[in-house]
This record gives sequence, C-alpha cells and structure tokens, in this order.
Amino acid sequence: MLNAGDHVAAYLTDGARRAENPCEDVMDRGTAAYFEKMIVNRRDAILERIWDRFDETGDPDPSDGERDQLKALDAALGRLRMGTYGRCESCDLGVEHETLEAEPETPQCADCATGQQPWIMPRRRAA
Ligand SMILES: [Zn+2]
Repeated sequence: MLNAGDHVAAYLTDGARRAENPCEDVMDRGTAAYFEKMIVNRRDAILERIWDRFDETGDPDPSDGERDQLKALDAALGRLRMGTYGRCESCDLGVEHETLEAEPETPQCADCATGQQPWIMPRRRAA
C-alpha cells in the first residue's frame, strides 16, 4: 500500500515528466512537433510577405489581418510551450485534429468557434 511519502514521490515524478514534455497530456510529442512546424511556417510566410511589401513599397506596417494572424500564431506557440496546445480554451476539450490541420493557431474546438473566426476569443463581459 502507498503511504503519503510515496504519493508525493509519484506526484513529483509525474511533475518532472510533464516539465520535460509539457505537451504529453494533450498530444504526443510527434504530433505537437508537427503542428509547431506548421505554425512556424505560417508565421514565416506572413513575415516574408510583410518584408516583400516593405521592399516594394517602403511600408513596414502589417495589415490588421496579418497582425491578428501573427498574434494568434504567437499565442499558439505559447500554448505549445505551456503544454496546453490542442486543448480548447473555452470548453477544455481536445480540439479536433482536422480543425488544427486547417487552422493550427486556433485556440478553440469547432463547436466553440462556430460562427466566428477561430482565433477570436469570445469577449468576457465587464463585471
Ligand atoms: Zn470548445
């Protein structure tokens, strides 16, 4: 039978394992790496588009759409680091892989995102 010390030891071991691979409880390491690559590629493509436009027109500003998308992609990279990537920020269920394939930066599952752009979070009511 486990005593309290064993429980603490088991908890610490689990914590250390998660720290080593924080995505593990949401998706396996290979899947997380796959989506990370997709996100980084999308980010690079947008930055390249902004640079190209700057070269052509001298305009250094991203469009509102580009800015929103970069923000969403950065947030997704943050969730990958925190180990919460792939978990819906609204209902806490896993986001469908087809949804992530189509929009790897989405923070929400298809149900929660219905009727809005997937990277726009519902606004919280002011208290
Ligand atoms: Zn959801």
